[in-house]
Amino acid sequence: MQFSTTSSRVDCPYCGEAFELIIDPVEPEQAYVEDCFVCCQPIHLQVTVHESGEVEIIARSENDC
Ligand SMILES: [Zn+2]
Repeated sequence: MQFSTTSSRVDCPYCGEAFELIIDPVEPEQAYVEDCFVCCQPIHLQVTVHESGEVEIIARSENDC
């Protein structure tokens, strides 16, 4: 298992802007809220790090939760 951080691209569910998200692969399951740097709306992020090192990110708007 590697312990370096990885980054992945996410699209903002509100304005569609793509941005880089830094993932710490030490935590296999992460859920947090990050404000979009363009439209400042809260993006609910659900991050899953698979054993293969593959990162899966689900970005939802507040209304979808
Ligand atoms: Zn946005």
